[in-house]
Amino acid sequence: MIKQNSVVTMHYELKDAEGEVLDSSKGQEPLVYLHGAGNIIVGLEEELEGKAVGDNVNAVISPEKAYGLPVEALVQTVPKEAFGAEIDKVEVGMRFQAETEQGPVPVVVTGMDEATVTVDGNHPLAGKELHFDVSIAEIRDASQEEIDHGHVHGPGGHQH
Ligand code: ZN
Repeated sequence: MIKQNSVVTMHYELKDAEGEVLDSSKGQEPLVYLHGAGNIIVGLEEELEGKAVGDNVNAVISPEKAYGLPVEALVQTVPKEAFGAEIDKVEVGMRFQAETEQGPVPVVVTGMDEATVTVDGNHPLAGKELHFDVSIAEIRDASQEEIDHGHVHGPGGHQH
């Protein structure tokens, strides 16, 4: 059963509240994570606690237990001059790393007008209710080294 420090191998499909598929491990390697280490969102860890190999789990996770609610302060309007010559490449929907006083932050361009560009530094899934369809493929105990590092080693995990 899945408990603190289990290494869990699972296949998953993630949909939003409208049923659109946002992410999926179908046709790819399964996801491997260390349970209780914050490798995956807290709401999904709670739902998977106590589950066994072969279990299928349908879970609806609120934004508060997923990627949080959008923060207005992370939406900023910047003058086009700030982009210099790169402005020609900027378009709505483009993602890039913005240099901030707190270091690089991934942002998406959400709007443009004559003089300014609006960028949003919120996580793309902030504010979204997440619908997970998970099947548990494998469970093992983590090694002491994995527990110390807070992540899985070997196939599907860190190779170092
Ligand atoms: Zn490690």
